Amino acid sequence: MKSEMPYKLMLTENELPNSWYNVRADMAKKPAPLLDPATKKPVTLEQLSQVFCTELAKQELNDTDRFIEIPEEIRAFYRMYRPAPLVRAYCLEKALGTPAHIFYKFEGNNTSGSHKLNSAIAQAYYAAKQGQKGVTTETGAGQWGTALSMACGYFHIDCDVFMVKCSYEQKPFRREVMRTFGANVIPSPSMTTHAGREILERFPGTTGSLGCAISEAVESAVSRPGYRYVLGSVLSQVLLHQSVIGLETQAALKKYGVKADVIIGCAGGGSNLGGLISPFMGEVLRGEAEYRFIAVEPASCPSLTRGTYAYDFCDTGKVCPLAKMYTLGCGFIPNADHVGGLRYHGMSSILSELYDQGRIEARSVRQTEVFQAAKEFAQAEGILPAPESSHAIKIAMDEARRCRESGEVRNIVFGLTGTGYFDMMAYQRFNDGLMTDYIPSDAEIARSLADLPR
Ligand SMILES: *Cc1c(COP(=O)(O)O)cnc(C)c1O
Repeated sequence: MKSEMPYKLMLTENELPNSWYNVRADMAKKPAPLLDPATKKPVTLEQLSQVFCTELAKQELNDTDRFIEIPEEIRAFYRMYRPAPLVRAYCLEKALGTPAHIFYKFEGNNTSGSHKLNSAIAQAYYAAKQGQKGVTTETGAGQWGTALSMACGYFHIDCDVFMVKCSYEQKPFRREVMRTFGANVIPSPSMTTHAGREILERFPGTTGSLGCAISEAVESAVSRPGYRYVLGSVLSQVLLHQSVIGLETQAALKKYGVKADVIIGCAGGGSNLGGLISPFMGEVLRGEAEYRFIAVEPASCPSLTRGTYAYDFCDTGKVCPLAKMYTLGCGFIPNADHVGGLRYHGMSSILSELYDQGRIEARSVRQTEVFQAAKEFAQAEGILPAPESSHAIKIAMDEARRCRESGEVRNIVFGLTGTGYFDMMAYQRFNDGLMTDYIPSDAEIARSLADLPR
C-alpha cells in the first residue's frame, strides 16, 4: 500500500461531508459562554439574533449537536472547489532528507485563495435565506473580504466591506477582486458612519485600524434594516463551518490507510486550525485515538504562548460580546514590522479551552524563519504559500527534520491555508534582506492586558 500511495489522496465529490462536525458536543468541559458586556450574563439567542442571522446565532450557542447538516445549496457551492486536495509532499520530504511522511491539506484552490470561503459561503447563505438585503464586515489584509464578496455575489446579496485605509491603498488588486464580485469596498475610516466621521475629525490623516473598521461595519449593519454583520474567524460558528477541512482530511487518510501522528496548523483567530483538528480531537475526546496537535502563531502576536486565559472583548472597538479566551488584551496591536497576518489579539474560545486542558501544544515562530520555510516549501512543492500558512510549514519542517535525526517514520499532517500572491511586498522585504523580527516585551504585553474587563 505504502509504495502505491499517490501524490494526491483524492476524495470524490460524493465523499464530500454531508454535515459539519461540532467538537463542543464531545467536550466534557465546554468552552465558556459569550457574555453580554453590560450585564456580564451569557448572551441569549434573542440578543445574538440582532447581530447575526438566527440560524448562525443558533449554531454559535449549540454545545450539544455533534453533527449539523450542511444545506444542499452550500454543498453545491462547495462542489465547485472541494473536496480540497490532501497532498503527500514527496518533494519536500526528499529536499529535507526525512523518513517522515508529510501531508498537507491545501485550501488555496479557489479564487479567494484561502480557507475563508468555507465559512463565507455558509454565512452568506443563511443571510440570503433569512431574506436579508446584505451583510457588512471589515477586512484588513483582504482575504476575508474577498471570500465574502465571492459568497455574496453567488447568493445575490449586498456585501459592504470596510477595508482598513492603508490596505485599501496598498492592495489595489485585492480591492478590485472584491469589486469584481460585486462588493462595495469602503476605505475605513469613512464618512458613511458616525464612528468613521468621529475618528476622521479627531485624526484627519489617519490610515485606519482594524478596530475602527469593525466599529464602522457593526454600525452600518445595526443601523440599517435588512443587514447583518459577519465575522471570518474566532467565532464557534466559523470553526463549525471550517470542520469541512478536517472531515475531508480524516476521510482521505482513512481511505488511504494513513494514521496521522501529529497535526499542525497556523493560528490567528483559530478557524482553520479548529476546523482541521476538530474531527481528530473528537476521536481523542471519545477515547478512540491519540494525536499530537500543534498551533503555530507569530512571535510578534503570541496569544496562546504568552497571553492570559480570561474574558476579553472580541474586538478593539469593544462593541462585541465578551469571550473567554487566551488573549493579549483587545488593545494589543502587533508591531508595524510584522507582515505575516495572524494579528488577532485573542484565540477562539473552543481552542482556548482545549489548550487550557492541555490537549493542544502551541509554538511561536519568528517571521524571518517563517519566510525562509515558505521559500523552501515553494521551491520544493511548487506552491507559493500565504505567509500565514507558512507558520504551519515551518513547524511541519522542524518536525520532519527531527525525524531525520531520530530515524522515526512519522505521519505529519499540516494545513496549507492559502496562497500568497497578494503578499509580494512581504516576500520582497524578505528577499531584499530587510525583514526584521520584533518580539514584544513582557512589559508591553502586561500593559495591554491591564485593560482586561473586570
Ligand atoms: C485568515 C487566514 C488565516 C488565519 O485565520 P484563522 O482564523 O486563524 O484560520 C490563515 N491563513 C490564511 C491564508 C488566512 O487567510
